[in-house]
Amino acid sequence: MGGVNPDGTAVEPIPVFDVRLDEEHVEAVAETLRSGWLTMGPRTQAFEAEFAEHLGVSHAVALANCTTALHLAYLAAGVGPGDEVVVPGITFVATAAAARYCGAAPVLAEILGPHDLSLDPEDVEARLTPRTKAVCAVHYAGYAAPLAALGEICADRGIALIEDAAHSPSATVPGDDRMLGTYGLAGAFSFFSNKIISCGEGGLLATHDDSVAELARSRRSHAMTSGTWDRHRGHAMSYDVVDVGFNYRMDEPRAALLSARLSGLGAAIAARRRLTHRYREALADVGGVSVPYTVDEVDASSCYIMPVMLDDPELRDPLRSYLAERHGIQTTVLYPSINEFTAYAGSPGAGELPRCERAARCQLTLPLYPHLGEERLGRVVAAVREGLAELSR
Ligand SMILES: *Cc1c(COP(=O)(O)O)cnc(C)c1O
Repeated sequence: MGGVNPDGTAVEPIPVFDVRLDEEHVEAVAETLRSGWLTMGPRTQAFEAEFAEHLGVSHAVALANCTTALHLAYLAAGVGPGDEVVVPGITFVATAAAARYCGAAPVLAEILGPHDLSLDPEDVEARLTPRTKAVCAVHYAGYAAPLAALGEICADRGIALIEDAAHSPSATVPGDDRMLGTYGLAGAFSFFSNKIISCGEGGLLATHDDSVAELARSRRSHAMTSGTWDRHRGHAMSYDVVDVGFNYRMDEPRAALLSARLSGLGAAIAARRRLTHRYREALADVGGVSVPYTVDEVDASSCYIMPVMLDDPELRDPLRSYLAERHGIQTTVLYPSINEFTAYAGSPGAGELPRCERAARCQLTLPLYPHLGEERLGRVVAAVREGLAELSR
């Protein structure tokens, strides 16, 4: 990445995402390391209790990452060999891959369009078969998927609704207080380093359902009947193994980091919302680009990313290069359409996803993080305006 100011000095690069930890976050991890208890202990339990309370949900099960949460959610929905799970074509590949871990096929479905990149309920309905066991809604960029319509479709057929809430740790449906990730049978959250609340690698399954929570707790630790912490406290002498489980556990330093960061989540999201409003205002008169979702949805969203859609897909990659090379501005694409990956080209539904494919070519993710600030945001918008004008000449 390059770029020079008129006076010859290098421009300050603007990353698409930036993590900033406070000293107290670092101290929480250091203190955990000093304690000598490194996995599945009191800090993980405390974080689970705090996150469950934050979400207003009965159970929160901390896991190694969100991909494992999706896997366990699908297993809890009864997804097995030969079954199908409907997922959007526009999402991170994990949403689809987790169905394959169960021996099932991910059925790729359409998004609503360039104005809303979440699952189209009508298209979901058209892709259901007697083998469909679950539908996984992704709250793209932190904006609620159409949960009412999807919930109705699933309830009518006795299919589980799972929520991939990787982008939406503290978001709601506009006008409602209930947190995303708590509507379906289970919600899967991510604490990967570039997510809204991050610890490096981490995830969590949230559910109101006692048996789903029990399955997740059991399978995350090899379906052993007692954990090391129980044995440490003298609650159990030995254990049985009652199913094929996994090592999907979170460790204590990560749980401590997440607990320490949770209190700042509200302020971080408030900053993201303010910046998203600023972006929307500043981009309103830039020709050739539109911003998905509506201004009314911003204050219910976690504003994980700042997505924009270009009218002309041919300009997307040249614009990305222009922003990087001339202005030191990093951008990314969320996401390529899953049906265009080699390993998913044969998935059911892969042949008929024109809206996903178009979105994948038109989408551009602009820099957004709580401390981005108005000045950098202004530089990004000016560079987009300039770049589009120059490239479309
Ligand atoms: C990041 C992400 C995941 C996977 O999360 P990990 O914690 O990295 O496993 C799944 N789905 C979506 C939509 C994501 O953005």
